[in-house]
Amino acid sequence: MADNLMADKKPPLEAEIRRRITIAGPMPVAQFMYLCLTHAEHGYYMVRDPLGTAGDFTTSPEISQMFGELIGLWAAAVWKQMDSPQHVRLIELGPGRGTMMLDALRAAKSMPGFRNAIELHLVEISPVLEQRQRQNLESSEIPVTWHKSLDEVPPGPSIILANEFFDALPVQQAVMCADGWHERVIKIDENERLAFTNGRDPIPLFDQMLPDSIGRARIGDIFEWRADQIALEIGRRVVRSPGAALILDYGHLQSSIGDTLQAVGGHQFAKPLTTPGQFDLTAHVDFQALAEAAASMDAAIHGPIEQGEFLRRLGIETRAKALKGAVPAERIAEIELAFKRLTSQDRTGMGRLFKAIGFAPVRFGPLPGFEP
Ligand code: SAH
Repeated sequence: MADNLMADKKPPLEAEIRRRITIAGPMPVAQFMYLCLTHAEHGYYMVRDPLGTAGDFTTSPEISQMFGELIGLWAAAVWKQMDSPQHVRLIELGPGRGTMMLDALRAAKSMPGFRNAIELHLVEISPVLEQRQRQNLESSEIPVTWHKSLDEVPPGPSIILANEFFDALPVQQAVMCADGWHERVIKIDENERLAFTNGRDPIPLFDQMLPDSIGRARIGDIFEWRADQIALEIGRRVVRSPGAALILDYGHLQSSIGDTLQAVGGHQFAKPLTTPGQFDLTAHVDFQALAEAAASMDAAIHGPIEQGEFLRRLGIETRAKALKGAVPAERIAEIELAFKRLTSQDRTGMGRLFKAIGFAPVRFGPLPGFEP
């Protein structure tokens, strides 16, 4: 380590990114994000377990068991809505440590028919987290198969879950300039630092691709979008398999202007370009874009609604009360705090910034938690 510092060597991923920029020219934001998170050897998720208080960030299932339990009951209710198929693929995208699934499966014990029907399919790119999931889910005694992408999961009745998965998918950015929208790219500047700049030529016809909700953009405005493949695949699957999907994440209800690319390490925000691969890199989820992709596959869209409201509808208040009654007195404050973090609308809470959206075939009618 000391030797490295003495030699002023760049960390290997940063060196690789610089090498690529030197050879191929400025790098699109999505490619930078893709390399930072999932580069086979040095990608952020590929080499570490970033979750929990000792890690870089904490997600809803890591805050409280109540979250996964309610999602498990949601899945059980959806399975009934599907006419209780004898086998159902319970698919989770980006399962982290497997905590949400573990809590969901425990809650599903109250519906043995559902629990016995489950075949687990986990879509995970990180070998480190796959290992954590393996350890955590071993005790559940349910067959599990791992996949690198959703399209590897065989067809058949499915319930798809994803919490804080989409925010980790690469986002592209465009900047409004005097002569139109340019892609936002990353260069090496005159001080030898990685820096944002604008692609040389305007993106042809970009204005026409923008959602109406954007309105008239001003110079300097940034618009973000993601590739649609996964949302399209989810939409296609719920209609054909059939099944339902539940996606929870932070983001905006309507497509809008704004630079939301952020780096987080040790529970602190950092500049996205300073430490490639060392910090988590995410961007808000555009729920309108998700909904439009799934709807284009004929899926019915439920929500999006705020996470606080969604969890309340699933009964988090009752669950918190029951849990408080079942734990030693010194743990009650911890449950109250977790309840507040998951549902609160204030700045530090996840109740408002986080949203839930559901997809299903039209004939299913409203999904639990999304009833009008
Ligand atoms: N759902 C978990 C973890 C969220 S972190 C929770 O709420 O705690 C994001 C998760 O998505 C991690 O498991 C990460 O390894 C996984 N991931 C990120 N990009 C991925 C990709 N392209 N394909 C599959 N999994 C991915």
